[in-house]
Amino acid sequence: MKKTTYNPFETAQNQFDHAADLLELDHATRDFLRNPMREYHFTIPVLMDDGKVKVFKGYRVQHNDARGPAKGGIRFHPLGTIDTVRALSMWMTWKTSVADIPLGGSNGGVICDPHHLSRNEQEKLCRGWVRQIVKNVGPFSDIPAPDIMTNAQHMLWMLDEYEVILGKRYPGFITGKPIEMGGSQGRREATGYGVIITVREALKELAIKPENTLASVQGFGNVARNAIELYHRMGGKVICVSSWDENDHCSYSFQKKDGIDLNELKSIADSFGGIDKMKAQELGYELLPGEAWLEQEVDILIPAAIENQITEENVKKINRRVKIMAEGANGPTTTEADKLLKESDIFIIPDFLANAGGVICSYFEQVQSNMNYYWDKDEVFGKLDAKMTSAYISVSDFSKANELSMRDAAYVISVNRVAQACHDRGWV
Ligand code: NAD
Repeated sequence: MKKTTYNPFETAQNQFDHAADLLELDHATRDFLRNPMREYHFTIPVLMDDGKVKVFKGYRVQHNDARGPAKGGIRFHPLGTIDTVRALSMWMTWKTSVADIPLGGSNGGVICDPHHLSRNEQEKLCRGWVRQIVKNVGPFSDIPAPDIMTNAQHMLWMLDEYEVILGKRYPGFITGKPIEMGGSQGRREATGYGVIITVREALKELAIKPENTLASVQGFGNVARNAIELYHRMGGKVICVSSWDENDHCSYSFQKKDGIDLNELKSIADSFGGIDKMKAQELGYELLPGEAWLEQEVDILIPAAIENQITEENVKKINRRVKIMAEGANGPTTTEADKLLKESDIFIIPDFLANAGGVICSYFEQVQSNMNYYWDKDEVFGKLDAKMTSAYISVSDFSKANELSMRDAAYVISVNRVAQACHDRGWV
């Protein structure tokens, strides 16, 4: 029987086990790294606009902080689970490690649907999240950041609550802040741009000119939009994007064979990255089922929505023309699908390498906030490009030298660095 539900933490642990086998890690180190070091589960009561109190479930999971303070997003999602948070925290440990920045990995969130929360309720939820976890996070222990359905305003409310409680200014407590309030130039673009920097390097290796390529993207949020913007500037053409439709509770793909217009689609999308299907059709986009983005006759696929989207069932629908898949989302490919992809000719740029631009720029933001001195956009993008390119080249060189897939190479490099830090500290 084929699986119909996927647990992202199982995927993350399977990937880790494989890396641990390749590295021949000892039993204790395996046991230690296979699970998060700390988990906090809590409830957040919020006085809603209708005068009733609603209790939300909140989490923070710190997978590992051997290489530096933990760092990770906060996701607001109705379908969030503790296992999603565990998986994201583990992937973040490998991400900061492969990017070679002095941070560990964490993740957190609240089970909620911001589509149905007023601004006032969202503010209370953000402040409530901080009140419950204030003792266990901070600029030198665990630094939160935005993720799905959280944004700069949420981060600012959280920062304000943290500073009010502690009675001092700690701009380095959180990243993804509004630029005028201590955010970094370029943070908004960093993840999507980083994805395309890795695509640029992969195209170079495959001797393909970007201007001769077509791409299809899953998602139309922060990562997808910025990836599309830079890819278009490199000369490529995106012919399909997909997004979640909140009214119909399913996803749709929007296809335009002669290339999508990014600004036009942005103008008919909501702040959560959902595209208005009626308006899109009026503008000449063909409305297709949610999974159609995967079946496009393109050179590059960019899953940039959510985890577990490429599965054993749909992986066979990927068009034979596809040469590169750059995983913008965290964990978009299940273990079973990844095995099948390894047998194909598709060059996979694994998630924690492809989307590391976000945490790299968050690290830059933290450094700037702690110094209280800020860089201009060109300086940020220059440093981002250098870090992403160097991470990509290290993984690519290692993969060729050891005849490993890019995912296995990235895992071996990053797990090894973290294991070494744990050994050096005398933890295991
Ligand atoms: P976002 O909330 O801005 O956008 C998410 C997009 O995905 C929206 O357009 C939504 O409509 C779409 N979507 C959701 N479910 C879908 C489905 N089943 N099919 C098609 N589309 C669907 O989120 P984001 O910040 O762009 O993050 C996207 C992914 O990238 C997530 O996996 C996130 O963890 C990862 N990521 C984000 C960052 C960052 O800096 N934002 C950094 C690293 C990784």
